[in-house]
Amino acid sequence: MAELQGVGASPGVATGPVLALTQDDVTLGDIDDPTAAIAASGTAVAAQLSALSDSARASGRDEAADVLNAQSLIAEDEMIVDAVAENLDSGSDLNTAFEQATAQLEAMLASIPDPYLAARAADVGEVMNAIKRNLAGVETSTADITTPSILIAHELTAAETAELDPEMVLGFATEVGGATSHVAIIARSLSVPAVVGVPDLLATNPSMAALDGSTGEFHADPSKDVLDDFADRVTQQSALQARLDKVRGMKVNFGDVAISVAANIASTDDVARAVGEESDGVGLFRTEFLFLETDTPPTEDEQFEAYKLAASSWEDTVVIRTFDIGGDKPAEYLDLPAEENPFLGQRGVRIYDQFPDLIDGQLRAALRAAAHGPVAVMVPMVATLDEFRSVKARVDRLSGELKTNGVECGDIELGVMVEVPSVALNAQAFAQEVDFFSIGTNDLTQYTMAADRLMSSLSDLHDPLHPAVIELCRLTAAAGNERGVSTSVCGLAAADPVAAVVFASIGITKLSVSAGSVNLIKATLTAQDPAIAETVHEVLATASSAAQVREALTPLLVQP
Ligand code: PEP
Ligand code: MG
Repeated sequence: MAELQGVGASPGVATGPVLALTQDDVTLGDIDDPTAAIAASGTAVAAQLSALSDSARASGRDEAADVLNAQSLIAEDEMIVDAVAENLDSGSDLNTAFEQATAQLEAMLASIPDPYLAARAADVGEVMNAIKRNLAGVETSTADITTPSILIAHELTAAETAELDPEMVLGFATEVGGATSHVAIIARSLSVPAVVGVPDLLATNPSMAALDGSTGEFHADPSKDVLDDFADRVTQQSALQARLDKVRGMKVNFGDVAISVAANIASTDDVARAVGEESDGVGLFRTEFLFLETDTPPTEDEQFEAYKLAASSWEDTVVIRTFDIGGDKPAEYLDLPAEENPFLGQRGVRIYDQFPDLIDGQLRAALRAAAHGPVAVMVPMVATLDEFRSVKARVDRLSGELKTNGVECGDIELGVMVEVPSVALNAQAFAQEVDFFSIGTNDLTQYTMAADRLMSSLSDLHDPLHPAVIELCRLTAAAGNERGVSTSVCGLAAADPVAAVVFASIGITKLSVSAGSVNLIKATLTAQDPAIAETVHEVLATASSAAQVREALTPLLVQP
């Protein structure tokens, strides 16, 4: 018996016999015409990957299909043959030439300032390995597992993961990989529970295992107690899943008020995940992924493509947040000076006037995307009405210019994020000028409680259910409702069932949560007796701490 801790990569629990996938290193023997043989293997591997991509696409698993398709294009790219040939020409033997070419191609792709191509660096190693195995005539297929098992391996490639038969693979665990790796993405698309990054996994050599893809637990040869506990988890999970499936795609109400449950997204991959959960549009598109981790800012066209993809994926609105960089999220190329208190410094809207081309490019991209579906834009880190007005003036000017120049664009709603308490306290004035409010409880809590959100030692002060934070949310919603301006919550608190019910009780009509929580929050709202709102108000009127609010309301919540 051994309990190992990895990273939960695909939710769900599984118990069963273990099948260990051995992936010994392949050594190539002499080959007469290596470049022709590599080209032929590249074509064969590309065909396999392309077939896997087509079958993933046919079953609606677009995200997995995209990964496999990208790998299939790499497999038949001449750069592979050229790179190996060059190393052979400089005197390396075939095995060394393969290793050198892999390292060179990975480094070359990783250095390209295009985030999409840089991400492909991770795929090159997998593809090169597949070509090498094909050359050596070694097949590792995960497709022929015939007994329902838990698969364990040092590593799985995207192709091996895509070939898994969910009927036969109850779950899998690997020694390498992270929650955002391709393997994790594909496992989630297949709904196969998975734990990755489990240290010393293969050394335990288990014959039975239990794993939980939410918590990252992996039990090698579990005791009877662990198996009983997992059997309970399986029963609860399948019952909950059945209830969540019932609300998928439904519009939900709390009492007689419609509450939309939108998704928070932060990448183009997240679009597919949120579409899969049938969220009511997007309540927060964190656009920073386009701006950070690159050496140069994204072009307007790159942004347009990303926003257009999201806008055309829903009938409901997609809310794009203008870039929230600076402070704790610096972008090297902006060359902002280091600060003593980054959360109180040059961040979000405060830097837009210093970088007019950057913000104008983003707003133009959003206005152009609005021609492809309903788009709204919201501004982070606003503290004063003048800051909001300056962005509004930009939007009006840019929209006029685009129209004058005959560029295809649409109209957008412009809202403000409520993250700084001054906005909530001044909400009546804001409500006269904004199209909507969106409360970022992560920052609103840190600024209300004066507790740096990154300091885990202050976690007691980070609970957004503190009556002071909720009062700021209530003031915002009340000011908005008076003027027909909607208020949403897009901070993490929206995905907390207790907080979601509190928000719905105080006049908030939209919650935006990560894709995986959309249906849990929909099911939670529909399960409640709307009379709970009265109790919420009573509790808020007397409680003096977040813990008191939580303790009073948690037992009253009807579980979905
Ligand atoms: C928030 O502050 O609650 C929010 C949604 O924005 P971020 O977490 O990206 O700062
Ligand atoms: Mg924020």
